[in-house]
Amino acid sequence: MPHQNHSHQHPNMLSVEEALLKILSKFSVLDTTNAQLEDSIGMVTSEDVFSALDIPPTDNSAMDGYAVISKDIKKATPENPVFLHVISTIAAGEVSSLAIRPGTAIRIMTGAPIPEGADSVVPFEETTEMDHETSTSTDQIGIKISLPPETYIRNRGSDIKKLDKVISAGTNLTPPVIGVLASLGRTHVKVYRRPIISVLATGNELVDPGSELMPGKIYDSNTSGLVAAIKSCGATPRAVGIATDDLETLNNKITESLDSDLIITSAGVSKGDYDVVKDVLNSRGDLAFWSVRMRPAKPLAFGTLRKLNGKNVPVIGLPGNPVSALVAFQQFCIHAINKMMGRPPKTFMKINAILENDIHNFDGRRVYARVKVRRDGNNFKAQLTGNQDSNVLTSMATADGLAICPENMEVKGKGENVEVIMLDWGG
Ligand code: AMP
Ligand code: MG
Repeated sequence: MPHQNHSHQHPNMLSVEEALLKILSKFSVLDTTNAQLEDSIGMVTSEDVFSALDIPPTDNSAMDGYAVISKDIKKATPENPVFLHVISTIAAGEVSSLAIRPGTAIRIMTGAPIPEGADSVVPFEETTEMDHETSTSTDQIGIKISLPPETYIRNRGSDIKKLDKVISAGTNLTPPVIGVLASLGRTHVKVYRRPIISVLATGNELVDPGSELMPGKIYDSNTSGLVAAIKSCGATPRAVGIATDDLETLNNKITESLDSDLIITSAGVSKGDYDVVKDVLNSRGDLAFWSVRMRPAKPLAFGTLRKLNGKNVPVIGLPGNPVSALVAFQQFCIHAINKMMGRPPKTFMKINAILENDIHNFDGRRVYARVKVRRDGNNFKAQLTGNQDSNVLTSMATADGLAICPENMEVKGKGENVEVIMLDWGG
């Protein structure tokens, strides 16, 4: 039977792509700040960085060995070493006051500046350094190979030249990029600042982990999961706590959260009696949409709240069910955070896998099924991690990917090829 198209069932519901575009249209890159290098991991540079120096700053040795004049050792062989007079030793960090003249050598350590007159370094391994029987005295060294000029010398400016543009604006600050900046002598770098993101849980049933669980209550797991997800994106979370499902409490918590770049709420956005997040958006700002054609995370609200200064704060109202909240975070919040931080749009790694179970699609939404991916010969296989209900967080915790059953397919069957979005929680 051909797969049935359900799109007529959701005339007003936005697709994931449409919802993302609407969300991103309300975000722009934040202002810049001067970050300490140690605090800059995951941020994006807002300046071009030029070098004030050559790196390396001097010609230096690539090996522990002997600085020599290559002409002196032309005839050297392991059987007939050429003996040179050792006039001193240079450690890394020192500069030799002596120059090399024909017939002499200087013992030199990796990274030490090449002394005047020398044009090559012979590694210890190619000398009589280690074989005590042949070394006649400590101020003589036998060289066992002939090397052309410029051997084992790292030239001044061979990595970076003075005035080179080393890092362009818009570069992600990874550990090696941070290392490069430090090698230029920098302690700070101009970046787009980290967004401050308020996280607000809603629900009369919620209590903080660590407190006593009374009948009818559950622990608030969304706050912790979302705070962690925000941190691993490089943004700064601010947990506002739990608001009960009444307008007054929620309004107060929202007012506390206004001084942030984004407010992420969870729950209170479906069609239940106490779903007040939409009401707050309607009364204090604009509700752009409140439902997306996806499973999980259909009840997803987005809008903006007006502040007293006339500016707006975007609000992403995630669904209450913990799996829905995290799937929606991956599909929407990460992209909003990246835009604020000046990062290029994130693309998750997608792979094609062979499905090991059926994924059912009851009502024409895009299904994101929690799977574990494994390699099987030349293929990947994707197996459901268990119960796919949106309250079952353990099957999200054991998943490493989300397998997609498209909107217009009733079932993605066992043995079929499936696209899997690989999850990436950082760390
Ligand atoms: P709601 O959208 O308010 O109807 O919530 C949907 C489901 O998610 C309900 O079963 C809630 O108990 C649950 N839920 C809401 N918020 C949280 C939270 N912060 N932590 C864990 N479960 C939650
Ligand atoms: Mg609720």
